Amino acid sequence: MLKLRQLADLPLENKKVFLRVDFNVPLKNGVVEDDTRIREALPTIKYILEKTPYLCLASHLGRPKSQVNPEFSMAPVGEHLSEILGREVVLVHDFNQDPSSRAFSHLEKNQIILLENLRFYPGEEANDSDYARKLIEGYDFYVNDAFGTCHRAHASVAKACEFFPVENRAAGFLIEKEILALSPLINHPEHPFTVIMGGAKVSDKIEVILNLLKVCNDLVVGGAMAYTFLANQGKTVGTSKIEEGKQDLLKSIYSTASKHKVTIHLPVDHIAADAFSENSKPEVIDSENIPANLMGLDIGPKTRNLFSRVIENSKTVLWNGPMGVFEWKNFAAGTSAIAKAMSQVRGKTIVGGGDSVAAIHASGFAYKMTHISTGGGASLEFLEGKSLPGIKLLMKS
Ligand code: AMP
Repeated sequence: MLKLRQLADLPLENKKVFLRVDFNVPLKNGVVEDDTRIREALPTIKYILEKTPYLCLASHLGRPKSQVNPEFSMAPVGEHLSEILGREVVLVHDFNQDPSSRAFSHLEKNQIILLENLRFYPGEEANDSDYARKLIEGYDFYVNDAFGTCHRAHASVAKACEFFPVENRAAGFLIEKEILALSPLINHPEHPFTVIMGGAKVSDKIEVILNLLKVCNDLVVGGAMAYTFLANQGKTVGTSKIEEGKQDLLKSIYSTASKHKVTIHLPVDHIAADAFSENSKPEVIDSENIPANLMGLDIGPKTRNLFSRVIENSKTVLWNGPMGVFEWKNFAAGTSAIAKAMSQVRGKTIVGGGDSVAAIHASGFAYKMTHISTGGGASLEFLEGKSLPGIKLLMKS
């Protein structure tokens, strides 16, 4: 376990606290569609509010490209937070001109501050010193609970934190929870440890695969990335989405797997169709080889069983990426089967990455998982063994 500076060690009583959260939540028609990230920050928010009324929350939302854009306003997030927290949330727009801490003198009891979208300003993503200094001017303590943003050296995560003495910084409870769940996977996982990788591209996940091959027993590969593996083995993959010229990546995966005695499991049958379309007719291909006119869009029934057996016999399972185009009903069965198999595991089950998180929620088995990470990119970089800029600044020396 990394030695994080803990919230419980900060003397917060009646002090002004700047809390970086990850409220980058999906919105639909101006309302919060999925509030998981907001709810996950509640323990930290409530803890701070027990000690002091002076709380400022700050987050980014979407990619407004450093421009003020009402489409990406934090206003709906503030309204939602207000409902579930039972406090009035005051949205502060002009923190880039006038330090937001001054707003406390106008606030009533029961009101907290939420800053407008940090990414409205170029200084945020540029990790700019002047912008960061303005952001935290007048605050006594800095708390970061935005695990999903810790892999980004952006001003509110990096430079702003550096302006506080180390004893005035801490990680929130969500960051602690994420690290407690993820670090045993790379340090001392219970065996058998199965890693399930799916999704679009092997090149996106090569670093994490190579790092996890050092500690796991089985690597299960599905999704479009499996066709790159199969094509490399000389199987026919029809018109499936593969990445060309990745022989070197696959070579390094196989040599690392062989060095660490890891078994790699690939699909043995497929659900395929003649076009990449939601309405394409699904066909079961009872072979590793896909005919020339078809593309693989999901793993087949034999593969579902094969993968499920490997998963169910594990003591630790990590899942990142869908087994097929799970957004379309006809090609979702493989991903659902993985969710079900995960629910049968007598051991630790960890889900990371946006699509697998959505799939596990859709399956109804989310409540059976040991941990569902709130950070897609951040959890992958953490599992790659990288030091995340946001976390590094919160560690005890
Ligand atoms: P990633 O972000 O890398 O985890 O990739 C997730 C995306 O991969 C999802 O949008 C899936 O629809 C897509 N995907 C999974 N399997 C396939 C496949 N066989 N063909 C095309 N896209 C796929």
